[in-house]
Amino acid sequence: MKLIAGNWKMFKGPGETRAFCEAFDPPAGVEAVLCPPFVSLPAAVESGHTIFAQNVHWADDGAFTGEVSAPMLLELGVTGAIVGHSERRQYFGETDETVARRTVAGLEAGLRVIACVAESLEERESGQMDLVLRLQVEAIAEAAGPHEQLLIAYEPVWAIGSGLTATPEQAREVHAFIKSLLDVPVLYGGSVKPENAEELLSQEGVDGALVGGASLDVESFTALCRIAADL
Ligand code: PEP
Repeated sequence: MKLIAGNWKMFKGPGETRAFCEAFDPPAGVEAVLCPPFVSLPAAVESGHTIFAQNVHWADDGAFTGEVSAPMLLELGVTGAIVGHSERRQYFGETDETVARRTVAGLEAGLRVIACVAESLEERESGQMDLVLRLQVEAIAEAAGPHEQLLIAYEPVWAIGSGLTATPEQAREVHAFIKSLLDVPVLYGGSVKPENAEELLSQEGVDGALVGGASLDVESFTALCRIAADL
């Protein structure tokens, strides 16, 4: 069964979250996950849908202003977390080391973890892609191993929010490469929408999608879930 996760980023407060969740009725045959901002997690959990956070800290508690821990998320009914999204790496100083620490802490506490890896356009074009992805995946693999609650999301930076997507062949090749380093399910992310989902999701080794923009609209996210359920 494919997993389709909607990463809402810094969109939708509790009111909009409640409205989305009430209207959202994913089909059977797909694992649909919503990842709202921290303040909207209680409203989302109340709806009964599967809810992941967009980040999780490595400590259970402590002097870490602005962070949220795995036990806090679990207490709320949140069952997983994204870590290492390229926006966290790019704007908030997240490193391979902190991503690995967050991954391990989430898994050890009992959360499912979607750990994100990506190359930039510059890295791809200068032939650095394999090395960059290898370093990112190996940092996670060395810390966590092929844990059954762990997923990787491959989200090429140049495809996020840009309207550009990896070709199905590019996605298939990179997913196979990632799985050769760490044998866990691999989601594809980067401008996935109902128009391109079937082609991407039907590639070998593409176990689901992490979706930004197209997850904000309940109709397009439901359409994506339907496509994945029908494959
Ligand atoms: C994301 O940021 O996780 C993402 C894949 O965004 P988008 O679908 O908008 O490219």
